[in-house]
Amino acid sequence: MPAVPDKKKKATPPKRQRIKAGRIRNVGQLDPLAGVGSLRGVRVYDVGQGDGLAVIDGNGKPVLHIDYGGRQRNPFMQTPPAQRAARVDAYMPIDASRLVMVTHWDEDHWCSADKGIAARAATWLVPRQVTSPRAVEFAAKKVARMACIPEAWVGVPSYFRAANGDELWWEKIAASGTNAAAHEDCNHTGVAFSLVRRSKSGGQVILLPGDAPFGEVGHYRSHWEDMLTLTGIVAFHHGADTHWTSATRDLLEFWPLTGKQVRVVFSCGVDNSYGHPFPDNYAQLFGGAFLPQRTDDLRRKGAGTYLDLDFA
Ligand SMILES: [Zn+2]
Repeated sequence: MPAVPDKKKKATPPKRQRIKAGRIRNVGQLDPLAGVGSLRGVRVYDVGQGDGLAVIDGNGKPVLHIDYGGRQRNPFMQTPPAQRAARVDAYMPIDASRLVMVTHWDEDHWCSADKGIAARAATWLVPRQVTSPRAVEFAAKKVARMACIPEAWVGVPSYFRAANGDELWWEKIAASGTNAAAHEDCNHTGVAFSLVRRSKSGGQVILLPGDAPFGEVGHYRSHWEDMLTLTGIVAFHHGADTHWTSATRDLLEFWPLTGKQVRVVFSCGVDNSYGHPFPDNYAQLFGGAFLPQRTDDLRRKGAGTYLDLDFA
């Protein structure tokens, strides 16, 4: 007779662990902009709840993938299992010679890669974090080549540069815990990105913070001090209201804009249980200059599978 589960007994949550992978020594060997002429901007795929971004070159080709997620309401839910991998690969096409980076290890930022094949054949450069056993197993067993960003580089921004001078910045924003038993909020210890185009009068920037509030990213402050104008933002944490901070507001409030409007992209699933996004914070900050765009609107309107956020 099969054992009857005791409903009163609480299941012990799975133990979180540290990502196990080697560590990059010379990031130049992975430079995703080697041989790239220029950058056009960033592609934000409709992955439902989560993030799936690709940095696009001047010819419209993805040259670096940032996150490859999609959880609740992901576009692959209705696909029969036998066709799912091919659908994921076609939806967010990825060349095995390209690099994948993840902002952090929450499931909605990587889990589509586990459903497809192509992304797992690429090289991954990732933050070492204490996270779910599922993420740790994926990192250790399912990706062809994976390296971690050394913790010694925390708070030290780096950038890759295209032939025309366009820059792709990235920074591990805070140290991760060494104690695998302690809970780590991965939102705050991951990697944040930005795209910069310089000009004679200064330049412009597009901010890609993952799920980290803008105030936590050191190099955003230096872009602000350099008087780069703000072209667009992928809203942090899918536009959540919960971690909106005064540091975020202070950074964005007086940031000069590139044009008359600033594009704010919300990467989110329709009707999600988290209440994402909450665009009012941005609406208050930017007033009439606020130009919101939502990935969940794409499916609703039959308007394609991604939004491009390009340099002005
Ligand atoms: Zn997320």
